[in-house]
Amino acid sequence: MKCPYCGSEDVFTFYEMVYPVHLYAVPKEVAVKTPLMPIVLDVCKGCGLGYNTTPPDNDTLEEIYKNYVYIKPSQGIGSTKNINIINTIKKYVKPDERLVDIGCSEGFILKNLKNEGFTNLNGVEPSAMADNIKDSDINVIRGFFSADTFPEKSVDVFTLSHVFEHFPDPFQIFKDMLKCLKDDGRIIIEVPDFEGYHHQHLFYYSPEFFMRFADDLGVAVREIADYSTGLMAVFTKSKTEPAEIKYNYDPVKKAQETEKRLKSAFEKLCAFFDKHKGKTVYWWGSGSLSIMALAYLKELKPEASVQVIDNDLSRQGNFIPGTDLPVASSENLAGKNLDAVVIASSFVKEIIDGNKKKGIVINDFFPIYDYWTGK
Ligand SMILES: [Zn+2]
Repeated sequence: MKCPYCGSEDVFTFYEMVYPVHLYAVPKEVAVKTPLMPIVLDVCKGCGLGYNTTPPDNDTLEEIYKNYVYIKPSQGIGSTKNINIINTIKKYVKPDERLVDIGCSEGFILKNLKNEGFTNLNGVEPSAMADNIKDSDINVIRGFFSADTFPEKSVDVFTLSHVFEHFPDPFQIFKDMLKCLKDDGRIIIEVPDFEGYHHQHLFYYSPEFFMRFADDLGVAVREIADYSTGLMAVFTKSKTEPAEIKYNYDPVKKAQETEKRLKSAFEKLCAFFDKHKGKTVYWWGSGSLSIMALAYLKELKPEASVQVIDNDLSRQGNFIPGTDLPVASSENLAGKNLDAVVIASSFVKEIIDGNKKKGIVINDFFPIYDYWTGK
């Protein structure tokens, strides 16, 4: 498929798999019916944009978003994920400026900024998560953002944390934001760069692409940073203060490395199961990586005995899509020694320490998230 941005046909496929459309735990009746879907991702050698060549249709997207919960920082799940964008906002935004967080979910970033003394906070969120923001100092609009959501030249800053990769037409959304921005306005975007292979992630960004995109639109890039939480880009509408951006990031090379790394992560996972053959392997986490890996494992190691654990209460009692594996709590494991544990989360230390406090000793663990992301 040719590049949807620049039209180049010089493209490279870096990811090709088949897994459930739902990458989160769902009720049993949904889990057993969840269809598997191929996912094929390409990267354009011309502009550096990565894109999903197998995007779900609208009905499937609606189904995915119906129960979509990515992280719940307010419950302490994934709260470190927002640290870098909050620090970047504090660097580029004055506390009294009008800030709009698009796709603000339950408002974790906005509430944090309020605690930091920010006074003009606004959010846009289409899902019911918006109802969790019952804060008289934060103005939340329930719906999708468009050029009409705010008056022309009325906004100082737009922020988007792990949202920009979900839009079917992010390029139009960016232009709509520019219309709403004041002349000295800024756009701060964090995206999962070439990671997070969810069916609903439609685009994969690189510094190379952001630079070209900004240039095409006549806006400036103030900063680009590749954090463990994702790729951060700060755009300014005006080009009056050109910044010299240095980055060392080749999207095609990155995509090739990704392809190799993921293959190796799954090989190591299989080796871990071989090492603990005949034992129950405890699997910590029921998020997207778990769903992908467990679908893969079911094909390769159908005899494996797996017990999925998640400390997120809302996931307990649900099932891993495409399997009949329930998600349980760690409560009845207190005082136990676990021989084999797969940790499918970036919060490896938090999980090991948390378990220690509950009297759960982990003898051998496999940090699949670290192998998967290379971080
Ligand atoms: Zn391109």
